[in-house]
Amino acid sequence: MQESNQNQAPKRTDVNSLGEFGLIEHLTKHSKLRHASSFKGIGDDAAVLDYGGKPIVVSTDILAEGIHFDLMYSPLKHLGYKSVVVNVSDIYAMNAIPKQITVSLAISNRFSVEALEELYAGIEAACNFYNVDLVGGDTTSSNKGLFISITAIGEGNKDTLAYRSGAKEGDILCVTGDLGAAYLGLQILEREKQIYLSNPGVQPDLGTNDYVIGRQLKPEARKDMIETFIPKADFVPTSMIDISDGLASELFHICQQSSVGAILNEGGVPIRTDVQQIAIDFKLDPITCALSGGEDYELLFTVNPEDLDKVRYMPDIYICGEMVNAKDGVKLHTKGGNIHPLKAQGWVHFGNQ
Ligand code: ADP
Ligand code: MG
Repeated sequence: MQESNQNQAPKRTDVNSLGEFGLIEHLTKHSKLRHASSFKGIGDDAAVLDYGGKPIVVSTDILAEGIHFDLMYSPLKHLGYKSVVVNVSDIYAMNAIPKQITVSLAISNRFSVEALEELYAGIEAACNFYNVDLVGGDTTSSNKGLFISITAIGEGNKDTLAYRSGAKEGDILCVTGDLGAAYLGLQILEREKQIYLSNPGVQPDLGTNDYVIGRQLKPEARKDMIETFIPKADFVPTSMIDISDGLASELFHICQQSSVGAILNEGGVPIRTDVQQIAIDFKLDPITCALSGGEDYELLFTVNPEDLDKVRYMPDIYICGEMVNAKDGVKLHTKGGNIHPLKAQGWVHFGNQ
C-alpha cells in the first residue's frame, strides 16, 4: 500500500467541472432503488411511486436568493406564486395532476413577518389556482438570503404518464405557448436595476414590456393543456418535459433518455412578434432567446405520427420538429434552409443574413 503523504492536499474537484447534470449523475450513480413501489427514480421531471392504486408523482425544486430571484425586482407575492408554479409544472410535465405541496423556508433575519405574509399570499394564490393543498414543510434560519424549497405531489394514471424516455424515431415534436419572453423580461429587469443602482433617483422605465416582465415574474404552468386540452384531444404524448432551462437543453434530455435524435425547425419555434422585437432591441437573436433562455414553463412533447391530426389544430400547440435516428444527432433546420448541430446553450446565428 502506498504511504500517505501528509503534505499532500486532499483531492479537491471543482463542482463546476462536472456541470449540473454530471454532478447529479456522479453523486447518485451508486444509489439503487430498493422498493418495487419506487417505480421511476432519478432522471425525469418527477419520480413515480406505485403503491398499487393510482401512481403518485413527486418533484422538488429549490429557489435560492441571488441565483433564482432578486428581491430588488421580485415582489414577494409573485415569488411565492412562482415557486409553486415551477414545481407544479414538473408534475404536469409527467401528464399528471398536482394535488399537494410542502414548503420549506430558510430565512435570514432581514425578513419581517409582514414580508413573509406576502410570500405566503402568493403561495396561497397559486394553491387556489392550481387546486393544490399546502400540507407541510419546514422553517429554519439562514445566515444570508432566502431559500424556498417546494415539493409537489401529484396523481397520474399508469397508462397516460409521460416520461422523458418514450420518444420514438418518426414522432412529431410539439411545443406549447411561446418561448423566449421570460428571458427577455429578466434582461429588462436587470437593465433597470443597473440604471437604478447607478442613479437611485431614476424611476424604472418598464415601458410596454408588461408581457415579458409578467412571464419572468409571474409565469404559469400549463394546467390547461394537461387537465383539459390534451385529454379532450384524446392522445398521450410519447414523451414530455417542461421548459425550465430552454428548449434546446430540454430537447437534449428527451433525446438522451429516449435514445433518439431530433430535427428542430427554427420556423416552428413559437416566438411572439413583440418579443422578437424586444430581443432585437437588446441585440439578441430571438431564436437564441427561445432555445437557451429558459423559465418559460411551457411543455415540450412528442406524439406518435398517428396522432398528428389530433394535435394539428389544437390551440396554442406548435409543431416544431421530428424525432430521428440517434445517429443523426440533434439538429436545427434554420429558416434559411441550413442544418446545424443544435447547441444546448447560447446557440448563435452563423453566416450573413
Ligand atoms: P427539473 O429541471 O425538471 O427540475 P432537474 O434537472 O433539476 O429536473 O433534475 C433532474 C433529475 O435529477 C430529477 O429526477 C431530480 O429529481 C434529480 N436530482 C436533482 N438533484 C438531485 C440530487 N441532489 N440528488 C438526487 N437526485 C437529484
Ligand atoms: Mg422539469
